[in-house]
Amino acid sequence: MFLEPGFGNQRSGWIEVICGSMFSGKTEELIRRLKRARIANQKVEVFKPSKDVRYDDKKVVSHDENAMLSRPIVLSKEIMSIHEETQVIGIDEAQFFDSDLPKFCVALAEQGKRVIIAGLDMDFRGEPFGPMPNLLAVAEYITKVHAICSHCGNLATHSYRLSEEKQTIVLGEKDKYEPRCRTCFSMGTILDFRHK
Ligand code: ZN
Repeated sequence: MFLEPGFGNQRSGWIEVICGSMFSGKTEELIRRLKRARIANQKVEVFKPSKDVRYDDKKVVSHDENAMLSRPIVLSKEIMSIHEETQVIGIDEAQFFDSDLPKFCVALAEQGKRVIIAGLDMDFRGEPFGPMPNLLAVAEYITKVHAICSHCGNLATHSYRLSEEKQTIVLGEKDKYEPRCRTCFSMGTILDFRHK
């Protein structure tokens, strides 16, 4: 489990990335860290991309409905509009943001902020997703969480798309995706009973 390095007398902040496939518990882990910061009376602000409106316009909502209020934004530069006294910034579904997100996260860390980012590391093709690879490169701390493969029970790293849609961003839940390990992911539609 990730344990915070402590704010202490540190003059600069840092960047944490929580990544993994769908159903791996990324958002739950983000919420856990943000809640701990709040309990410690640290000022927290949370952002999510406005295109992710699967559950609620204003909340970071994980699959277990363990919700936390967030601000939907369109452009990554809007995270620079935080209140000066904010110490911890949470960003959910970071894969949907533009390629400038790493630059702004670095700027906030240099201002002494703790930036915690959650996002899908790979898209449905198994390719690195949006700004995630660059965020992983600039982060001090990286946590890769895993789901359980729907077919074999091994650790799942991939988000397999059950529908035939081809565009990179298709919002959906268990109706459209399932977690798979590398082997079951590469077997593709052979395992795809639901669409036969
Ligand atoms: Zn598997």
